[in-house]
Amino acid sequence: NRRLTLASHPQGLPGPEHFRLDVQPLPEAADGQVLLRTLYLSIDPYMRNLLAPIGPGYAPPVPLGGVIVGGTVSQVVESRHAGFQAGELVLANAGWQDYATSDGSDLLALGDMAQPSLALGGLGMPGFTAYVGLLDIAQPQPGETVVVAAATGAVGSVVGQLAKLKGARVVGIAGGAEKCRHAVEVLGFDACIDRHAPDLAGRLAAACPQGIDVYFENVGGDVLAAVLPLLNLLARVPVCGFIAHYNDTAAPAPGPDLATLLARRIKLQGFIILDHYGERFDAFRRDMAAWLAEGRIRLREDVVDGLEQAPAALARLLQGGNFGKTVVRVAGG
Ligand code: NDP
Repeated sequence: NRRLTLASHPQGLPGPEHFRLDVQPLPEAADGQVLLRTLYLSIDPYMRNLLAPIGPGYAPPVPLGGVIVGGTVSQVVESRHAGFQAGELVLANAGWQDYATSDGSDLLALGDMAQPSLALGGLGMPGFTAYVGLLDIAQPQPGETVVVAAATGAVGSVVGQLAKLKGARVVGIAGGAEKCRHAVEVLGFDACIDRHAPDLAGRLAAACPQGIDVYFENVGGDVLAAVLPLLNLLARVPVCGFIAHYNDTAAPAPGPDLATLLARRIKLQGFIILDHYGERFDAFRRDMAAWLAEGRIRLREDVVDGLEQAPAALARLLQGGNFGKTVVRVAGG
């Protein structure tokens, strides 16, 4: 069993030296357990936060020497659990390793899926994050202007497309001309702004002549600074993440301009998607499967081959080198 464990805590961007690849005997399934083989491993920004000595609060940090955590699409290779059969595919939390055991409590049977890796992206946690954050928290109305950064990524691409389904005008922000072209031509956004080109604030203002009613916060940093002066009265800001700051080594960046939030009665709401599975996940899966089947939502994956590539894939995502939902193909597929 190949495993990637935490060798040391990164300061700034994680590199290969922070991870250790070792080989252990295959774990054995006890009574009531299943043995799982990892087919696909999800690479997500939150993983960076779990590599710090003190975690982000919503999940425990990875201990030194511990296997890096992560969602997986896994195949049941041996079952000693009444609810699962050898051969079936499940959504699991096997982490950065080839094999793992589970007592079944954290598994979701996937049934027959044409593209099982989507259970880690648009049909899974990132898609669900977009669904709850945009539809439940921001509630965009027809004709409103919605802005989302990391616009071609796992969460942002679904946020923008759902906002279009709700009749909003959608302006994306993405890293580079090719991502921007994809956001407009494939995902159907009304406009997309390259965050690497000069005068982000000026170009964003020009792209949002009616101001901004919903800003789906994925990144923080320069993008948030450019958005704030454009927020309209009663704007909503679901606070989903701050990826621009995950590798910061200095003290936290100053927060948003509180005077603007107050004067414009802006609703700024943080959320952790883990809290919403109970009430909303079934509705999300039903809706998203239908939208995908109807071709109303498009999903792009950035697939990397080989478990040993997982550290580099995480570093690439934290720098914007990924284009679409990052997934590591560990076996099969
Ligand atoms: P993505 O697939 O969007 O990949 C990350 C993207 O972030 C990069 O491709 C890049 O896009 C952008 N990015 C990286 N560095 C910067 C930077 N310095 N400034 C601006 N943008 C940057 O990742 P996800 O869709 O999985 O995650 C998006 C956000 O959602 C993250 O902040 C994540 O932590 C958060 N999240 C929160 C959840 C919750 O429960 N609250 C659940 C899931 C995700 P580009 O090159 O286009 O700028």
